[in-house]
Amino acid sequence: DSPTFQTYNSLMNWADSIRRLKVRTNADQPDQASNAIAFGAEGIGLCRTEHMFFGENRIMSVRKMIVADTVEERKAALSELLPLQREDFEGIFRVMKGYPVTIRTLDPPLHEFLPHTEKEINELAQALGISYQTLKAKIDSLHEFNPMLGFRGCRLGVLYPEITEMQARAIIEAAINVMNEGVKVKPEIMIPLVGHVNEFKLQEDIVRRVADEVMKEKGKKIDYLVGTMIELPRAAVTADEIATRAEFFSFGTNDLTQTTFGLSRDDAGKFLPLYVQQEILPADPFETIDQQGVGKLVEMGTKLGRSSRPNLKVGICGEHGGEPASVEFCHRTGLDYVSCSPFRVPIARLAAARAVLNERTTKTTKSKVAAKPKAKSAGKTKAKAKKK
Ligand code: PEP
Ligand code: MG
Repeated sequence: DSPTFQTYNSLMNWADSIRRLKVRTNADQPDQASNAIAFGAEGIGLCRTEHMFFGENRIMSVRKMIVADTVEERKAALSELLPLQREDFEGIFRVMKGYPVTIRTLDPPLHEFLPHTEKEINELAQALGISYQTLKAKIDSLHEFNPMLGFRGCRLGVLYPEITEMQARAIIEAAINVMNEGVKVKPEIMIPLVGHVNEFKLQEDIVRRVADEVMKEKGKKIDYLVGTMIELPRAAVTADEIATRAEFFSFGTNDLTQTTFGLSRDDAGKFLPLYVQQEILPADPFETIDQQGVGKLVEMGTKLGRSSRPNLKVGICGEHGGEPASVEFCHRTGLDYVSCSPFRVPIARLAAARAVLNERTTKTTKSKVAAKPKAKSAGKTKAKAKKK
């Protein structure tokens, strides 16, 4: 009831009344999701399921799944995770009350899940009934020199389809259970790190087959979408092919920036500030979309995607989704929504509104310039100066 809150509220209501971009949030837990709703989020744009796997009661099953030698072993580990994942999704669907919820299938940098300490390796060896040395050899064989460009994203689900099967089952079972409680649900299943349409097709086939199975078992139908992250340059430049199958795109600009610049997102902080300080780059591209490079791929991906699927829903869920200049860029590029961390939702709502105002100003300036031919060059110079 405080005057400050009232001012905030009327400002935000004004922003909502003029913005075109929807604003969603990145959230993996029901409490994060409800915080985001309080900040005005209109859905979840990214639920990172790998974050759900680090809990005390889960990491052991995840590790068993990763070091499994056979499909049976992997399935046994996954069956321990299924009820827990189902509960995770039920919690989120309940809080989101019919808003769209984009759940991404597993995208682990493998090394983060592997046991590291002697104690962790011993515990896992005991649980598996194998020797420390045997397990250590297995873990060593999984070592990657560059895990962020390694066996992650959909590559895991493509080669181990039972992982995607478990997650698809957990999502659809949870959606039907929550729908049976009288709450609306709108699941969107998202495949990460797709670089080739074949990867998407394989994952989509699994999701649709499992969804059909679950709906038959439960005697209930639900609507859901299957879409993809666009976070590799190859995905952006073949977006027309990918959109023949994907029902939505979400630009993962964290990875897209990393792969476009060939610059590790984990190490960039060591020297990027110097690049910015010395004006080699105008801004940190991991914070503000680099419009000449990454942004071109976003534009190209959106255009190509919609050339084969005109109603393709397009969003962004990289960190840029809550950064004002990037939000404006997303508006100009014709995206449908941005998704950002809960605390950035109000900023994104304001930036989306400002984008509309700036667009109106530019249009008015242009039409005035067109009406007065003499003022043309002056108008152009102004517009240019403003852009800079
Ligand atoms: C991204 O790459 O932009 C993204 C949202 O995925 P993550 O940060 O989980 O890799
Ligand atoms: Mg990513």
